[in-house]
Amino acid sequence: MSEIHNLSVAELSSALRNKSLGAVEVATHFLNRIEKDELGSFLSHNPELTLKAAQSSQERINRDNAGPLEGVPIAHKDVFVTKDFPSTAGSKMLEGYRSSFDATVVQKLAQAGCVSLGKLNCDEFAMGSSNENSAYCAVHNPWDITKIPGGSSGGSAAAVSARLTPAATGTDTGGSIRQPASFCGITGIKPTYGRASRYGMIAYASSLDQAGPMAKDAMDCALLLSAMCGPDLDRDSTSLDIPAEDFTKQLNQSIKGLRIGLPNEFFGEGLDSQVKLALEQAKSVLKDLGAEFIPISLPKTELSIPVYYIIAPAEASSNLSRFDGVRYGHRAKEYSDLMEMYKKSRAQGFGSEVKKRIMTGAYVLSHGYYDAYYLQAQKIRRMIAEDFKVAFNQCDLIMGPVAPSTAWGLGEKTADPLSSYLADIFTLPASLAGLPAMSVPCGMSTLGNSSLLPLPIGMQLIGNYVEESKLLNVAHQYQLQTHWHTMSPIEPGGLK
Ligand code: GLN
Repeated sequence: MSEIHNLSVAELSSALRNKSLGAVEVATHFLNRIEKDELGSFLSHNPELTLKAAQSSQERINRDNAGPLEGVPIAHKDVFVTKDFPSTAGSKMLEGYRSSFDATVVQKLAQAGCVSLGKLNCDEFAMGSSNENSAYCAVHNPWDITKIPGGSSGGSAAAVSARLTPAATGTDTGGSIRQPASFCGITGIKPTYGRASRYGMIAYASSLDQAGPMAKDAMDCALLLSAMCGPDLDRDSTSLDIPAEDFTKQLNQSIKGLRIGLPNEFFGEGLDSQVKLALEQAKSVLKDLGAEFIPISLPKTELSIPVYYIIAPAEASSNLSRFDGVRYGHRAKEYSDLMEMYKKSRAQGFGSEVKKRIMTGAYVLSHGYYDAYYLQAQKIRRMIAEDFKVAFNQCDLIMGPVAPSTAWGLGEKTADPLSSYLADIFTLPASLAGLPAMSVPCGMSTLGNSSLLPLPIGMQLIGNYVEESKLLNVAHQYQLQTHWHTMSPIEPGGLK
């Protein structure tokens, strides 16, 4: 058997079930790796609690009362609230905050048997594409520690890639599962909006936020997603009333005759040549499996950037108003009156990217600008969803890049934040339309990397509403033919 940390969720789950591995042994192995982590991917962990949970898991296995993921370790992005660990959303505003309950997704994974290893670093309130907006520390990409891991679920992606955990949760508002998965060479899926409950997810932009799994391959994502989804109508008003599904059941379908759409707008100027090449190669693998490729158009692709960067800040400005030092969050120590207390608390608690977005959001919602910005953005958002509707009359699913390039250098885009907004271009459309989309490792590139270390490339698959299983099946069929998802950084982040 390979080393414990190289096993997939599926492999770990069967080894635990047939007792060739013990839950405490597995948890201890990952905890030891976390202790040596130099990537900055974990914000909190607690070996005592984890080992206790592993022990209970083992007892359930011994009693033949095991859940589908019994004993499999997982770590959660720090925007999910948890009872056992602090929940900070990567912000000073929530430093040391303890929730009295677990987010639904966390609870569901625990009920399926997952053992929590702790909480993962992320951009503050999930705002960012590089994890550099975390108030605690930046995260390093395990393939090249001078590079960003992507964001906002950068800690999740780096930790899975460096095999500090076999799986992680992430959240995706405009690409935060797919883009870091792509930059770190792992697989991640954002389900249809409403599939996974948002209850207990610290809100960024509520009409876009969605939880999803990040793991080694499509099989693992299917296993985890099956446990995460399902209606939560009493606690999340946008939860879809569709029963939980076993996504692993559809993983062995032939893809012969499947029509895959290639949007012109995803393959134009600005796409790195090696990303393009990797996608060409992925296309030929899928063609050999019998898929057909059809050129399609998503004409409003470019507009998804201004639309997203109006709608998401607008919702954020409202969601983050609760952090005022009274209801939630940090309270300034010295102030002379109530107004000064609010001002100082928010000025001290929030980082600069969050402040920028709150201001943008308040501006586009303000009287006199609402019609010009927010309302227009809502109208174009509808048109973007319509474009997908037209596309899905011509094809079964859509393929394209996750991002225009591989991971960029730490600090490289700090002086020009707009360039990092622009790099979200291929993930934003599916988010605005609420469609399921995933990232699948499909190549490596050294292009533009002065250290000459190869960096992972991700292929994006976008499906029609609630067709997660179609995406996962195509990804799984592709992964049966390729090895990209099996690669891991040689010695992640200098870890021995
Ligand atoms: N990069 C995008 C942003 O900065 C998306 C983040 C996300 O999906 N949470 O908002």
